Amino acid sequence: MRDEERINPGHGEIRLFARVVGPIMVVVGVIFLAIGMISFFSSFGSFEPPRYFWCCFVGMPLIALGASLTQFAFLGSIARYIAGETAPVQKDTFNYVAQGIRPGVKDLVQAVREGLTEESSDVPAGDKKFCSNCGQAATLQANFCSGCGQKL
Ligand SMILES: [Zn+2]
Repeated sequence: MRDEERINPGHGEIRLFARVVGPIMVVVGVIFLAIGMISFFSSFGSFEPPRYFWCCFVGMPLIALGASLTQFAFLGSIARYIAGETAPVQKDTFNYVAQGIRPGVKDLVQAVREGLTEESSDVPAGDKKFCSNCGQAATLQANFCSGCGQKL
């Protein structure tokens, strides 16, 4: 199944119609305009009125209508192409950001867990001293800091 059919089911026939009819209308419009113009300018040399000048008034709207129809027919394809080009990039960016965030969240969770562990450390409150170097809690009996090895 083609991408276009999957994204825009049921609109394929209308688009195909517009894609075929649009350019045909432009071509037919140009032919009408040409006939009108030739008739208009060739009538200058004679006394006859420009017999096919009305073709200009058929040709010009036809060209305009056909051009807009063609534009409409291909607009979806262009939009989808742009969307197809940018969507993977956005996805990559999201994944990249998510991957960048993950270690940060992990660190945060670990820090919180360590904080909680420190709070509920086995050293009883009032029965501990803190390292002057790193602030690690230690029992009063400890001679050296368990964190940095500083003499207490
Ligand atoms: Zn220390």
